[in-house]
Parts: sequence; C-alpha cells; structure tokens
Amino acid sequence: MARSLPKRADVAVVGGGLIGLASAWRLAQAGRSVVVVERAEVGAGASLAATGMLAPAAEHEPGSDLLLPLALDSLARWPGFRDALQAASDIDIDYRQEGTLVLAIGRDEVERLRFRYELQRRSGVAAEWLAGTEVRRREPTLRPSVTAGVFCPLDHQVDPRRVMRALVLACRAAGVVVVEGCAATGLDWSGPRVTGLVTERGTIAAGTVVLASGAWSGAAGLLPDHLALPVRPLKGQSLALRTTRQTGTLSHMVWTEQVHMAPKGDGHLIVGATVEDCGFREGVTAGGLYALLEGARRVLPGIEEMEVEAVWSGYRPTSDDDAPIIDTLAPGLVAATGHHRNGYLLAPATADAVAALLTTGALPEVARPFTLARFRTEARAIA
Ligand SMILES: Cc1cc2nc3c(=O)[nH]c(=O)nc-3n(C[C@H](O)[C@H](O)[C@H](O)COP(=O)(O)OP(=O)(O)OC[C@H]3O[C@@H](n4cnc5c(N)ncnc54)[C@H](O)[C@@H]3O)c2cc1C
Repeated sequence: MARSLPKRADVAVVGGGLIGLASAWRLAQAGRSVVVVERAEVGAGASLAATGMLAPAAEHEPGSDLLLPLALDSLARWPGFRDALQAASDIDIDYRQEGTLVLAIGRDEVERLRFRYELQRRSGVAAEWLAGTEVRRREPTLRPSVTAGVFCPLDHQVDPRRVMRALVLACRAAGVVVVEGCAATGLDWSGPRVTGLVTERGTIAAGTVVLASGAWSGAAGLLPDHLALPVRPLKGQSLALRTTRQTGTLSHMVWTEQVHMAPKGDGHLIVGATVEDCGFREGVTAGGLYALLEGARRVLPGIEEMEVEAVWSGYRPTSDDDAPIIDTLAPGLVAATGHHRNGYLLAPATADAVAALLTTGALPEVARPFTLARFRTEARAIA
C-alpha cells in the first residue's frame, strides 16, 4: 500500500538517494520531523549503481585540491557513521579497509602514475610506490605485465546495497517518513520564502525543503530559472562478477587507467565504471561492457572464468567543477547535490553539514567552499 503523505514536517527532502536519506537521518536525530519524497524507489538513482569506494587518495588528481579537505574529513567520519548505521539497522555494511592499488602497465602509464603519486605526496595523502613484483606479491592473481603500482592505505569501501538498506531502516527508526513512488512537482512559495513541497499526491507544508535529487537537480521543473543549479548527469556503466575459489579474486580495490575493481564480502567483484557525458540515455551498451571487460582482463586474467552476475548503469550528479553543492538557495530551501563520483565518500560530511546548516544557520568550516558562490566568483573572474 502506498504510504500516505504527511501534511506538514519541519523538513521535506526531495530524493531518496544516499544524500537525501543520510541528511534526513541526521536531521531526525537532531530532533526534526522529516519526510523524504522519492519518485521511484529508494536508491533508484545513482546510489544503487555505485561501487561504494571511499577513496580520497586514489581519487586525488590535478584539480581536486578544493575537494581533498572535505573528502578526508568525511572519510574520518565514516567509522562513526558506520557504527551508528549498523547499530540502528542491524545490517553489516561490509566496511573494508584494505586500501587501493593503482596500477600501471608499460612506460607511459608508469610516467603518468609517477606524476599522480608525486601529487599525492605533495598534498600529504598517504601513498606508497611499489615495484611490479611487490604489487603481485600483494595481489598474486594480477598479470605479470603489471609494471608498477601505488598503494593507497587510507582508502576504504562499503557495499552500497547494504548501506541503502541500512539507511532506510535507520531513517524509519529515527521517525523519518520515507514516501516512495511520489514525485515532487514544485515548491510552495510565500514571497521570497519556500514554505512547502508540492508533490503529485499533495503538498507538504515544510519549514525547509532540502533538494537532494541527484543528477536531476539541474533539470527544469522544481526550481525557478534564476536558481537553476549547474548539475548534469554523467552516465556510468558497471558489472558484477561472481568469484569462486577456482577463479580467485582480489583483496584490495584495484584501479587502472581503464577500470576500477572492488571485491565485496559476498564474493562479488564489481568492475566499473564508464564515464559518458550523454545526458539521460538509459541502458547498458555492448561498447560499455566491452570496455569494462577488456580493461579488467588486461590486468586480471581470472575474470574469464567468472560469471557475469549483473550489469547496470546510473547517473552521477555532476556539477561544473565535479564538487558538491551544499548551500541555502533561498529562505527555506537548501541544496545538497552534485556529488559526482564521490557521493559515498562524502555522505557523512554532507549529512552533518546539512544538519548543521538547518540547525545553526551556518555550514561547518570544511563545507564552506561548496556553496554556489564559487561559481559566481569564477564567472566574475572570466568576465
Ligand atoms: C557507476 C557509478 C559508480 C559510482 N561509484 C562510486 C564510488 O565508488 N564511490 C562514491 O563515493 N561514489 C560513487 N558514485 C557516485 C555516487 O553514487 C553518487 O554521488 C551518489 O549516489 C549521489 O547520491 P544522491 O542521493 O545525490 O543521488 P541519487 O542516488 O541519484 O538520488 C537522487 C534521487 O532523487 C530522486 N528524484 C529526482 N527527482 C525527483 C523528484 N522530482 N521527486 C522525487 N524524487 C526525485 C531520484 O529518483 C533519485 O532516487 C558512483 C556513481 C555511479 C553512477
């Protein structure tokens, strides 16, 4: 039976993805009455398509200096977030701490990896250069052609399916009303102030609306033109392989220039992900799967014997600088979106920042660079 829509709440959240639910949970823990409105099912956007890597070190690349402090802050919040989530839901989220091995094959890739490694070192990110023999000692199923690697011991991972299931339970236990199959269609305004959320099943009067609609946050509809957000979808395709004792598996997350592979506690090896700037184009393509399988086989020959268990695609919510947007757009209207390929990594810090913004009126120091002001400053500098 469809869940009935409350008539009022302190906070109405648009989007039952990771960011919407994590924020709702934190707000409910802070004493707010919260409704989450999801037009499909919880996690149906990017959140169930993700690999679940919490990888600030492997992710660190030229241009991501702005993000690094927030990424490290959020990673540091993960153990507390995990413990609270597991306690509230009684679900083990498969939190793994083996780190990432970033691989290079051949001279050109080694040179590029060396550049990345030096950037990591300059930024103070823990990283260790490994010769090919040492890489294979740590991951014996890799091909002998692997020339070198960088070990990033800080990087962790979770299982997105378990996290999303746990978040729904934690939210409900904290009193959050999660309404699925109900699209938000507009905002109720009273002068300059947002006073409610209009949905296809009625209006919720709300002190604050939190827009956490992922890759759809930039689409026309809910927001007036002058508040439009610079967020677009970046499609990613992934697949899950079933590993057995015979096929062997990996113990670390393994990255190459083509793919990432993440071994999960249930025996799956996730291979991801394509990056396609093609708008909302549904479906898994032969080209996408071919690229993933070819990239994986180049370093891990054992994949040939692994069963393909699932294939899927999703849309990363990507802002113009690939960093999140956490900001007050108008009185009574807050955005928490644009987490691109780092939503899992950034979820605890984002949820805490949203809760702080609604409770104290200000963002914590570490989240302050992620307001929309940075885009206005860039536009002024170019003009
Ligand atoms: C292939 C892939 C791999 C990834 N791997 C990783 C990874 O390893 N590590 C990591 O940190 N991140 C990863 N990400 C990124 C991560 O998944 C996202 O950053 C994160 O899930 C974004 O969460 P969200 O809640 O903002 O968006 P979403 O999960 O997309 O949730 C938004 C929700 O809003 C709903 N919605 C939209 N419009 C409306 C409306 N009008 N009314 C009601 N509901 C609406 C949608 O149905 C959707 O469920 C990956 C993403 C992809 C696609």
